[in-house]
Amino acid sequence: MEPVLELRRVGYSYHSLGGETETLQNISFSIQPGEFVAIVGPSGCGKSTLLSLICGLLKPEQGEILINGARIGYMLQKDHLLEWRTVYRNTVLGLEMAHQLNEKNEERVRTMLATYGLADFADSYPSSLSGGMRQRAALIRTLAMEPELLLLDEPFSALDYQTRLEVGDDIGSIIRREGKTALLVTHDLSEAISLGSRVIILSHRPARIKKILPISFSAEADGSRLSPLERRNAPEFSSYFQQIWKEVREHG
Ligand code: ADP
Repeated sequence: MEPVLELRRVGYSYHSLGGETETLQNISFSIQPGEFVAIVGPSGCGKSTLLSLICGLLKPEQGEILINGARIGYMLQKDHLLEWRTVYRNTVLGLEMAHQLNEKNEERVRTMLATYGLADFADSYPSSLSGGMRQRAALIRTLAMEPELLLLDEPFSALDYQTRLEVGDDIGSIIRREGKTALLVTHDLSEAISLGSRVIILSHRPARIKKILPISFSAEADGSRLSPLERRNAPEFSSYFQQIWKEVREHG
């Protein structure tokens, strides 16, 4: 199967009057359709830079990035909902801007709002939603554009701990259910293990790939999927946590 995304020996440095900041070194990995890949690494190692390269805001200095024409959708820390638009009108904003707001797409968005518990809030304003519901609305707005690759940049980190667990569970389950391919960048190791089918561990800056760890749970061996919350309670969870923690802590 063609990967949705492939990075080949990607390197990047920032250049300023103060000198050069080498940020990424020799980064290679690919993502297959339907995979959920999480990237973890210490703060400041180059995770956001990597996402900027993948979405084309920056150009790699070395290597290449192949996205095979895939449409990319984003989910960011802030939900960026427009307070003066109703929830429904927020979720169709992208479609409206792309002149793709037709009956079929409206129906699809209405169905997602109903499936994910927001139908009763469709005509309310974002201020009446909880933090978790706002993130769900933001995700529906992104999914409305039918992206082939979702880039998630620390999407839960602005939320308090309990909400973060709930929303991570919620959003992770929706992405799986919709069969989307996703790349999540996070500094939260537990989040990476509870959501990812693979975890890519980056070193301190300049970020190199220290390890790519496939995540599998015995309870998923029959093809069934544990929810992110169930994964956190599964016996394998703590051993994955320790393995990744050890890699992240070790310098070099
Ligand atoms: P992370 O997302 O892992 O926290 P970033 O990709 O934001 O890391 O940043 C990686 C490194 O690049 C940091 O040391 C940061 O200071 C530096 N950096 C980020 N943006 C710029 C920029 N525009 N100019 C110069 N250096 C930058």
